[in-house]
Amino acid sequence: MHINDVFETARQTGRTPFSFEFFPPKTERGFEKLYQTITQLMVLNPAYVSVTYGAGGSTRDNTHKLVTRLHQRGLTVVAHLTCEGSSEAEIAEILANYNAEGIRNILALKGDVPKDQHAPRPAFQFAADLVAFIHARYPAFGIGVAGFPEGHPDARNRLTEMDHLKAKVDSGANYIVTQLFFDNHDFLDFRERCVLSGIDVPIIPGIMPITTKSGMVRMADLAARCRFPAALLRDIANAPNDDEVARIGIAWATQQIRELLDAQVAGVHLYTLNNSSASLEIYRNLGMG
Ligand SMILES: Cc1cc2nc3c(=O)[nH]c(=O)nc-3n(C[C@H](O)[C@H](O)[C@H](O)COP(=O)(O)OP(=O)(O)OC[C@H]3O[C@@H](n4cnc5c(N)ncnc54)[C@H](O)[C@@H]3O)c2cc1C
Repeated sequence: MHINDVFETARQTGRTPFSFEFFPPKTERGFEKLYQTITQLMVLNPAYVSVTYGAGGSTRDNTHKLVTRLHQRGLTVVAHLTCEGSSEAEIAEILANYNAEGIRNILALKGDVPKDQHAPRPAFQFAADLVAFIHARYPAFGIGVAGFPEGHPDARNRLTEMDHLKAKVDSGANYIVTQLFFDNHDFLDFRERCVLSGIDVPIIPGIMPITTKSGMVRMADLAARCRFPAALLRDIANAPNDDEVARIGIAWATQQIRELLDAQVAGVHLYTLNNSSASLEIYRNLGMG
């Protein structure tokens, strides 16, 4: 299903679409474990799922493998694709393969810069260039792009940042999905700033529940600008073990989603980290599971 149809169906039914993000495992065993996780999550009937593309294209083959497998299971899949680490010919080949397989939704990203200093210069400098490339070659593809409610670390300033986001939409993006955040004010303010910038596509909040203290530290690295509210940090600091951290993190994420649903968000994107338990519990808390 084209991503626009996902949002249109939601509009008609009044049901907010929930989506799940997975990353491709490195080993065959990891894939088997992930398929079990995904089977557990399928009862929640996600509107679509997305699959990440490792820094500098490092997961190229495994991303493709997971995307095709999920597509074959009848899911609407959004395949992440990045500028970093790929030549134009490689990107063209990836898109041609997806098109031939009937996979027609892409999240177009600049990508995390690979650690390998000798990595080839990317064919496209910014995500907007990749969006334009995809849109010109495959106008029937659905295209998503990333948004950063708390600002992107490389942005020169917070005003031009919105111009660059608008450029991605003007180049052909159908929706925006955001970086994780813990304070809904940041998202709601971002959504308003998008409207002020003339951006009129669905803006989907990305939610990642904290489930362990070490996971929170990794999140801080992953989303460098992300602000951890004091109330959340205090509760987590006082938690005696990770079971309690997970209870706190899941309760926080549930409350965030409740407020976001009240604010009529166009969808909710859950970063699953390839685990089912937090998402299942959030659904239960919301009375949806
Ligand atoms: C939902 C989501 C999913 C992600 N999935 C992946 C993934 O699968 N794989 C991966 O490697 N990374 C992923 N990332 C991380 C992302 O690739 C990085 O955060 C990257 O640094 C920014 O990507 P972008 O697509 O927003 O880049 P861009 O839109 O290109 O923006 C990057 C920076 O450049 C600035 N900029 C844009 N255009 C211009 C211009 N013309 N002139 C000057 N400055 C400009 C922007 O303001 C921003 O600061 C994801 C991020 C999010 C939020």
